[in-house]
Amino acid sequence: MIDGRALAAKVREEVAEEVEELGEVGLTTVLVGEDPASDVYIRGKHKAATSVGIRATDLRLPAETSEEELLQLLRDLNGDDAVDGILVQLPLPSHIDETKAIESIDPGKDVDGFHPVNAGRLYLGRPNLVPGTPLGIMRMLAEYDIETTGARAVVVGRSNIVGKPMAHLLLQGNATVTICHSRTVDLQRHTLDADILVAAVGQLHVIGAEMVMAGATVIDVGMNRTDGGLFGDVDPGAAEHAAYMTPVPGGVGPMTIAMVLKNTLTAARARRGFVSAPY
Ligand code: NDP
Repeated sequence: MIDGRALAAKVREEVAEEVEELGEVGLTTVLVGEDPASDVYIRGKHKAATSVGIRATDLRLPAETSEEELLQLLRDLNGDDAVDGILVQLPLPSHIDETKAIESIDPGKDVDGFHPVNAGRLYLGRPNLVPGTPLGIMRMLAEYDIETTGARAVVVGRSNIVGKPMAHLLLQGNATVTICHSRTVDLQRHTLDADILVAAVGQLHVIGAEMVMAGATVIDVGMNRTDGGLFGDVDPGAAEHAAYMTPVPGGVGPMTIAMVLKNTLTAARARRGFVSAPY
């Protein structure tokens, strides 16, 4: 089992050391409205940021905030020298265009890595700020010495925040990458071919144990809440013949927040003229 909690703690320690060297690093989060799930996420991010010495500012706006008010706030944060990273918690209320909000963030402060400039840089093989979940997965693979060069990698899911950036990072790691999605015919034919299988679907155990090749590395991004708890997209029975597998919970989840902190550090370093490795 790949221990995401332990690795996330290690990443946080590394970030804390570098934050101390750098001096002040500032992250500002923006939450519009009172969605309880978003509140939990924001609190988690603040706790994590504070634990590594990042000065985190929690901006809360009422649900009726207009799109223009939010965009103006983002422009102000872009121009604020004390702010290294900006994170707008999604989803936004329906009267605000999320794309516009994301595109209003300075790409150099976009620690979620959702801005088209950051997506484009990743596509071109020159990543700067990359979404935390796929970035954390690359770090996991590196940490466990799982070779991506020459590996057959199959990513199930093609969202902009997980599947697509994951596929690009694996491609950059010289894997031969297949992307599967809801229209893929005979999913098992593809998954059974995977040395590295990343499941980012959001459907309980959509990848059966029989769909995983013996000796494969299985990264389960799925978070499916049921009455019985939190479960992944992959049947845990696959762990019996996989070489490596991430548990749910305790796998990819903890790494995501750690990598957002890492991105905040990367953004802060870049603003001071330093170059950082992405993960
Ligand atoms: P999306 O709903 O945006 O994307 C899901 C993807 O799965 C889509 O590309 C969809 O295809 C594909 N899909 C749906 N059904 C099937 C199927 N039967 N077979 C193959 N592919 C299918 O989800 P996200 O990428 O945002 O998230 C995926 C999961 O990861 C969720 O459970 C989410 O909660 C979790 N997650 C976990 C994180 C963590 O930190 N652990 C962070 C982010 C997400 P199509 O494009 O054709 O619709």
